[in-house]
Amino acid sequence: MIIEQLLILIKPDGVKKSLTGNILTKLSEARMVIIGTKAVKVSKKLAEAHYYQLKDKPFFGELVDYIQGKIYGEPWDRVIAFVYQGEDAIARMRKIAGATNPEEADPISIRGAYGRITTKGIYENVVHCSSDPSEAEREIKLWFQPDEIVNSVYSTKKIIAGKGEKTVWA
Ligand code: UDP
Ligand code: MG
Repeated sequence: MIIEQLLILIKPDGVKKSLTGNILTKLSEARMVIIGTKAVKVSKKLAEAHYYQLKDKPFFGELVDYIQGKIYGEPWDRVIAFVYQGEDAIARMRKIAGATNPEEADPISIRGAYGRITTKGIYENVVHCSSDPSEAEREIKLWFQPDEIVNSVYSTKKIIAGKGEKTVWA
């Protein structure tokens, strides 16, 4: 079995519905370790970079607003980001998260239990879960700096920043 990392986000609807504890409890069934975590106010730039593969979809603008929590406003306009690590982590965590469409998701999955489809048609599905190892790497490097992750998972390099040095993704 191969050890994988992935990015999990508790999206703003999950934050607003006070589901952080419930979601972490369900995810903990997979016995993975958390190697990084933080709360993030998502900028438009980060939101667009995160979902760049969907930029040609008609719902892209609304999707960007959703991950930024724009429709909820203070204090729900944020996500809680996690890097999880473990054996076969991506497939196992995506199974616990459930299918993208909350109406089609297994009812005991996170999305099946807690997700909804808005009147505008956006799948408010409570969590983001990386879909494959290369996407996971791209997303982890987008959301986290090397020094925010406990185990070093990808190669890094040192750069000169002001009078000191800074470690960045290579
Ligand atoms: N999404 C949506 N309608 C769609 C497809 C996707 O609202 O028809 C949203 C949904 O919130 C989803 C996100 O866009 O989680 C990213 O889509 P993706 O296809 O990557 O699904 P995921 O990997 O999140 O299951
Ligand atoms: Mg995806």
